[in-house]
Amino acid sequence: MILVLLGPPGVGKGTQAARAAEAQGWHHLSTGEILRSEVEQGTPLGEEARSYMDRGDLVPDEVMVNMVAKRIRAMEPKDVLLLDGFPRTLAQAESLAEAAPGGAIAGALYFRAPDSVLEARLLARGREDDSAEILRHRLSVFRETTRPLVSWYQEQGVLVEVDADRSIEEVEKDVTQAVASLLHPSNSAH
Ligand code: AMP
Repeated sequence: MILVLLGPPGVGKGTQAARAAEAQGWHHLSTGEILRSEVEQGTPLGEEARSYMDRGDLVPDEVMVNMVAKRIRAMEPKDVLLLDGFPRTLAQAESLAEAAPGGAIAGALYFRAPDSVLEARLLARGREDDSAEILRHRLSVFRETTRPLVSWYQEQGVLVEVDADRSIEEVEKDVTQAVASLLHPSNSAH
């Protein structure tokens, strides 16, 4: 089963994915983390990705789709995989739907928080691509290119919204509930 985590930079989806994966024994794939480690190791993929990341732009779809497809092919039927930071474009979402074995995409969680909260969190985190100007660009890339995926998953009836402007523990409770409703839809129908 695959669960997609959608949301703007700074919303805390990476933190929540790591906690849920740890608590439930699930797999957590963060495309941003993979890219940062490729950049650190100076691999050809890292070299290619770096300029996009430094500007706060998206790395080309083809690179990302190949990266994730490899991981999906290695999945065992019993695995639950949390996709954190992928898909971010409609083309990526369509490729994911094609690459995933029939019905494997259980749903998408959309983490929401006001821009002022996101900016404060990102500036506090202080990563290289988190300077005020670049993070505003990252937020606009999210709004223009990634947010349309919220409606895309909504139309498929597999979207759950999570209010991420609360404590880590409160959000975690909602995430657990939301995931249960997506993985076992019949149990939560009443
Ligand atoms: P993140 O840690 O998810 O915020 O990702 C950091 C950076 O990696 C992004 O600003 C993009 O440049 C790049 N990136 C991560 N995931 C993707 C993706 N699915 N598509 C395109 N670029 C990505």
